[in-house]
Amino acid sequence: MSAGKNNRTENANPAFERVADILVVGGGVAGIAAAVQCARSGWDVVLLEKTILPGGLATLGLVNVFLPLCDGEGNQVLGGIAEEFFNAAVNLGPGVIPPNWRKKNKENSKAKRKICRFASEFSPATFALALESILDQAGVDVWYDTVATETIVENNTTRGVKAFNKSGNGILSAKIIVDATGDADVARAAGCAMVDGQSELSPWFLEASLDSARKAASLNAPELLAKMVRLGADSSSTEPNFSIPAWRGIDGKIVSESARETRRLIMQRYLNSKQPQDTSPRNFPLALPTLPQLRTTRRIKGLATMDGTKNRQDRVAFIPDWKRRGIVWEMPLGALIPERLDGILVAGRCVSAKNGDAWEAARSIPAAATTGQIAGIAASLALQNNTLSIGKIPPQSVEKLMRSPQIAKNDKKNKTPH
Ligand SMILES: Cc1cc2nc3c(=O)[nH]c(=O)nc-3n(C[C@H](O)[C@H](O)[C@H](O)COP(=O)(O)OP(=O)(O)OC[C@H]3O[C@@H](n4cnc5c(N)ncnc54)[C@H](O)[C@@H]3O)c2cc1C
Repeated sequence: MSAGKNNRTENANPAFERVADILVVGGGVAGIAAAVQCARSGWDVVLLEKTILPGGLATLGLVNVFLPLCDGEGNQVLGGIAEEFFNAAVNLGPGVIPPNWRKKNKENSKAKRKICRFASEFSPATFALALESILDQAGVDVWYDTVATETIVENNTTRGVKAFNKSGNGILSAKIIVDATGDADVARAAGCAMVDGQSELSPWFLEASLDSARKAASLNAPELLAKMVRLGADSSSTEPNFSIPAWRGIDGKIVSESARETRRLIMQRYLNSKQPQDTSPRNFPLALPTLPQLRTTRRIKGLATMDGTKNRQDRVAFIPDWKRRGIVWEMPLGALIPERLDGILVAGRCVSAKNGDAWEAARSIPAAATTGQIAGIAASLALQNNTLSIGKIPPQSVEKLMRSPQIAKNDKKNKTPH
C-alpha cells in the first residue's frame, strides 16, 4: 500500500465509490469485532477484506485454537465480543468451554494445565460460517475480494482508502478508519511510525488418515476425523528456536517465499513418510493455509504501548497471558492509536505491544477480538463527541463500555466531525 492524496483528476471516474461513517480494513477477528461493535451502535460501517472469507488467520490461516479468555487461575479475564466469538466458534462443534476451567489447579502436569483454561480447539470452517452470520446480523456492509491499495490523507487526518476489486479501482471514504490488516498496512501507507517483527515459520494444515478415522469412529468423536498437523516453530515455547529460520512478513517477495517454503515443508512430510514400494494407504493433506502463517510481522508505534506497566490510568482492558498462568497485561487505549495522525485506529495483532511476551499475548485470537471491540467503541465515541482525534477520547469511557455487556443500540448522535 502507498500514501495517496485526494487528487481530483486521478479520481475523476472511480470504478466504485462508497462513503461510510466507519471503514474497517481487514476482516480477521479484530476487524470483524470492530465492525460489529460499530454497526451495533448504529453507525454505517463498511468492512473491506481482500479474500472472500471472514476470520483471517483464525480461518484462512487454519489456526484452530481459541487461546484462553481466563488467567489460568480460575478467573475470566475477557468477555464481550471475544467471548461471543468463542461461543460462535464452538457452537456448531467441535469444541466446548472446558467445564473445569474455574478450578484452581496447582498441579504441574501438562495435561492438567491444558484442561484448566477457558480455551478450546475449533473448526476454522465452522468459525468462518459463524462470523459471517454475526456480520449479517449486525448489518455490516462487507466488501470481499477488495484490497485497500492506498491511504487517503488530508491535513494529517485519514479520509479513506483507494481500493481495487473486480470492478476496477475505487474509493471508500469514512470519517474513521480501523486498520485491522494484521500488519498495519493502512497506517504505514499513511506514514505512521512502525516497529517490525519477525516470525518463525509454522506450517499448520489439515490431514486425513485412516488412523484418525479409526480413532474418531472408536471414540465416537467426529472432531478427530481430520488431524491438524503443526510443523515448524512451537510458539508456546518461551525460548526462541534458533534452528528455525525467522521470516519478516513485510516484504512482498519474502511473504511469497514464506508461502512457498510452507508448502515445501508440508510436501517433505509426505515424501519422507513412505518408501516407493510401500503400498499401504497413505495419509494425505486435506486443506492448506491460504494466508501467510506469520505471527508478528509489524505493529504500530502507538501513543502508548502494552509493556507490563501496572495500574495504568489509560487502561481499557486486561489481556490474559496464554503462556503463563496468573499473569494479565493492561492494554492502554494509546496502543491502538498511531502517532501524529487523526481519524485512524489499529486493532488486532498490529497494536502497540512490546516485543516478546506482551506482543505474544496481544496477538492471540481473543486479544485481537478484544482490541477490535475497543477500536469499535473508541471510534463510536469519537464520532459521538465530534472529534477525529482519537487520543482525546477518555480511556475511562472506553473501559466503562468494555465492561458493560449491553451495547447501546442507539448511541449514535447526529454530529458530523470534520
Ligand atoms: C502459525 C500460527 C499459529 C497461531 N496459533 C494461534 C493459536 O493457537 N491460538 C490463537 O489464539 N492465536 C494463534 N495465532 C495468532 C492469531 O491467529 C492471529 O494473531 C489473529 O488471528 C490475528 O487476527 P487479526 O484480525 O489481528 O489479523 P489477521 O487474522 O491477520 O487478519 C487480517 C485480515 O486483513 C486482511 N487484509 C490485509 N491487508 C488487507 C488490505 N490491504 N485490504 C483488505 N484486506 C486486507 C487479510 O486478508 C486478513 O483477513 C497463530 C498465528 C499463526 C501465524
